[in-house]
Amino acid sequence: MTILKCSATKCMYNENELCSRGDIEITGAGARNADETNCGSFRERSASGAAMNSEAHHCGCEKINIDCKAQECTYNEHCKCTASAIDVSGCSTEGCNETKCSTFSCKC
Ligand code: SF4
Repeated sequence: MTILKCSATKCMYNENELCSRGDIEITGAGARNADETNCGSFRERSASGAAMNSEAHHCGCEKINIDCKAQECTYNEHCKCTASAIDVSGCSTEGCNETKCSTFSCKC
């Protein structure tokens, strides 16, 4: 499994820059640079944080399963990420929903 560090601290799954979701999806079919990728699992944290209580995962886990649609990435093998560690960045401010996989590296 891949080690994930995530700076999207406005995401409801973010716990101290680790992800508590258990698995994530990275979108960006046809992406040729990191800016064209996106974390499809990002959900903006509600002001109250109430949504968190209904989630099964509560830990911020270092390792995570990644279903990745960015097949032009060097690390993508049949929609699985083979990188040992990745960085997801974005969304540390209110009202933002732009994220990306900063580790994306194009085969092109
Ligand atoms: S490093 Fe590449 S294969 Fe892994 S999640 Fe990021 S874009 Fe997808």
